[in-house]
Formats: sequence, C-alpha cells, structure tokens
Amino acid sequence: MSANLFDILSRSITDAAATAIETPAGDRITYADLVARTGQMANALIGLGVRPGDRVAVQVEKSPEAIILYLATVRAGAVFLPLNTAYTVAEVAYFIGDAEPALLVCDPARAAELAAIAEQTGARRATLDANGRGSLPDAAANTSPDFATVPRDADDLAALLYTSGTTGRSKGAMLTHGNLVSNALTLRDAWRFTKADVLIHALPIFHTHGLFVATNVTLFSGASMVLLPKFDPGRVLGLMARATVLMGVPTFYVRLLESATLDAAATARMRLFISGSAPLLAETHREWQARTGHAILERYGMTETNMNTSNPCDGARVAGTVGLPLPGTEVIVTDPDTGAHLPQGEIGMIEVRGANVFKGYWRMPEKTAAELRANGFFITGDLGRIDDKGYVHIVGRAKDLIITGGYNVYPKEVEAEIDDIDGVLESAVIGVPHKDFGEAVTAVVVPTGQPHLTEADVTKALEGRLARFKRPSRVVFVDALPRNTMGKVQKNLLRDRFAGGA
Ligand code: AMP
Repeated sequence: MSANLFDILSRSITDAAATAIETPAGDRITYADLVARTGQMANALIGLGVRPGDRVAVQVEKSPEAIILYLATVRAGAVFLPLNTAYTVAEVAYFIGDAEPALLVCDPARAAELAAIAEQTGARRATLDANGRGSLPDAAANTSPDFATVPRDADDLAALLYTSGTTGRSKGAMLTHGNLVSNALTLRDAWRFTKADVLIHALPIFHTHGLFVATNVTLFSGASMVLLPKFDPGRVLGLMARATVLMGVPTFYVRLLESATLDAAATARMRLFISGSAPLLAETHREWQARTGHAILERYGMTETNMNTSNPCDGARVAGTVGLPLPGTEVIVTDPDTGAHLPQGEIGMIEVRGANVFKGYWRMPEKTAAELRANGFFITGDLGRIDDKGYVHIVGRAKDLIITGGYNVYPKEVEAEIDDIDGVLESAVIGVPHKDFGEAVTAVVVPTGQPHLTEADVTKALEGRLARFKRPSRVVFVDALPRNTMGKVQKNLLRDRFAGGA
C-alpha cells in the first residue's frame, strides 16, 4: 500500500463535508474541497514538468492555496521545499543552486528578481500571491480535480527544509513521508486531537512548526484550522471564543500576556495551549497559568527530527522542561566528546532516535555522517539532562556553551538567576573571547525600567546565588534581544556585537 502522506491522510477522512481550513475573511475549505483542489494543483504541477522526486521550491506568503500547494506537491510524489519569505534574492539563489528544483513558485512581486536565478538552474517558474492568485492557481483552475496520488514508500522524500543556519551554510534536511506521517499521528494522539478541534494557526508555514506540526496534526485529526496570515494578538484573543487549541512560539504567549483582556473567561473554551521552537520561560508558564488557569504544554523538536518530547496532556506539565520522550522516540544524553551514554541526571548532548528522525542532509554526506550515527541516533546539538521522572530539561545549544578558564557555564542557568532579579524583563548570557580565560561570561539584559538597574545591581544580586566563575564579568543593557521569526534569540548576533566591547 502506498505510504504517500496524502494517501494516508485521505484514507483517514471520515467527514468530507467538515471544514479543514477557514480564513478570517470567511472562506471555508472542506476536506472534499481539499482533495479536489490538491488534485487540480497536482495536475497543474505535472503540466509544469514536475516529476516524482523533483523539488518544488516555494517562497510565498501564507494562504490556504500555499497549503494546497504543499499537499499537491506531496500528492505528485515531488519534494516540497518551503523558503522563509524574509530570504533575500541572494539567499534564495543559494537554495535554488543547492536543491536544483524543477519549479520555483514565488510571489508575483518577486518574479522578475528571481527569473535569472531560476533560469541558471533550469527551474521553471510560477507565481502565487497572498490572496491565492497567480499563474499557478490559474493553471490549476483549468485542470481536472481527478488525480491519482503518486504511490510513495515511507522512505521516499516528501520535503526538504533548510535549517536556519546561524553558523555556516544552511543545510537541507531530507524529510520522508514516513517521518511526517509518524510524527503527525503520534502528536495527534499525544495531544488528544479530535475532529471537534479548531486550531488557531498563526505560525509561518515555511518552518516545521507551522507547516508540519500545526497543519498535519489538524488534518490527520479531521479537525479544522483558522489560518491567520500572521500572528496578531487581538485576532488570536478574539478567536479563543470559538477555537480549542493554540500552537505558538513563546513570544506569542509573552505578547498575549500584555493584553488586559486575557483572563480565565477569555480562554474558557480553549482546550490546549502548546508552545515550542524556543524555550518558554518558567515565569511565562506560571504567569499564563495564574491569568488563565491553563498550563501551557511545552514540547521540543527541530527541523531534522520533527517533534521529540512533549509535556503530557494528562499529567504534570512541568514549567521549564520540555516533557517526556514521545511514544516511538528514544532520547538519550551522551558525553559530547566521547559519545558515551551518561548516567541519568547528568548534563550532556541530547540524542534522539525514531521514525521521526530525518534521512540526512541533502547532498552533504559528511555532515550527515557527523550528526546522524550509524545506529540511528541523531546528535541534536542541544545540551540537556533527564530528571528522575523522565522529563527532559534543555540547558541550551552546545555551540552556546561557555567555557571560561576551563569551566563549563550553561547560559540558561545564569539567565534564570538574572531573570529573577527585580527590574529584569529577560536576558541572554553569551561567551565573548577573553585573552586569559578563553571566554568571558557576558550578560545582555533587557530591563523593565522599574526599578532602574545598574551593572553593579545585577552583579551584586548574583553573589551567593551562582559560583564565581558563572557570574558575568560584564553586564550590558539593551532595549530588546534580537530574535528570528520563530522567536529564537540570535546569540550569534549578540556575540558579534559584544565581542570587542559594548
Ligand atoms: P528548528 O530546527 O528551527 O526548529 O530549531 C530547533 C531548535 O530549537 C532545537 O534544536 C532547540 O535548540 C530549539 N527548541 C525547539 N523547541 C524548544 C523548546 N521547547 N525549548 C528549548 N529549545 C527549543
């Protein structure tokens, strides 16, 4: 039997008349429409020369048609390659050169700029705008909705997602039909999704969170999603009156907490608030629970592995942890130097294995061999530990670890202490080059302004709370921390900025 994600999805549809996607403008796409429209779009892709195994590179705004394009690409047996809408022409040129797609779909406003790049690699071009219009939907409108989904094996590629690549070249993570389907089904069950659910979809769809976690879990449950073009706190709050689940990055929750109308009554109909893609501060978790009565469910995953761990639906959702390994996923902690399995409770490299783990990096066999062990474990690059109840705690990215005078300093531990100081909104702790110690601990602090803080206040407050070698030798104040679209603090930018002095 075909393991094509779309075949498995269509076999699971029990109510074809139910809404799959709706928009704030009131458009409604049922499951029957989804089958018909992805059929038309798949026919249009074939007409444009897309063959099974070909990559379809897509840099478009979020819209229902963009989701239809994702599913149609998968139906055609091709490989969906979404690109961040913020990428410049030069950045897109790298991805196109590396992935050699058969087709590049972009916003009409970008078509002229990208034409030369597409031509160099022989990619054909089509357009799709934020309102679902363009040459691709025009071509689809003239085709039949009947399309025989191309049979695929579980091991065949469904998508190629480039990692955010804060250091070095961005790598293309090869995700198979089996990877995506297994994770969608695991999360559907773990988070108790049913067809009664209505998801507030406010995430971008060029990233694993909005594209796979949000979209696939909803569709594999027969549930529906309200597709917002972007995160808008007022709109999200308004939708809580009739939705059941929100999936967000931590910044969503921080921004929503700024709203005076967020309270238990406003969230009474909601069933579940999920957070991931970046660490959720324990303080945000507590504040959310105090205001709404809901404990945010934090989960952990990455482009290469889909989701690995999650706090439970029933059971303790522990603030500051990313929960337990998901069924079918093994999580171990190893010595970063030797790879040896560490005893429970010790901090080390988080490694994961399971049907969720990708096939390797596109055309980078050495990188694949360096990060994906022959025994199937993927070396995540995240440092963490597993507590005596089995919950995973992430202490930061391995590359953010600070080694000062031979001692390891885990930024998260220092950040947690700084964040507890009255007058601190948030902080990021980085290592900057130091001629004696190798690296020196530097704290970048965002103050609340109330009370006014000085460097000496922060340093003094940390005395007695942290060993001397962990305490920052410098504290600098900034208005805001630099974050990428998924809410991750860009420590590489802070390291560049503060390397030679404030
Ligand atoms: P990406 O591939 O862009 O999804 O980034 C994956 C990385 O995001 C992981 O390796 C973690 O460093 C980080 N991440 C994802 N979820 C969490 C979480 N709940 N807490 C802390 N870090 C997270």
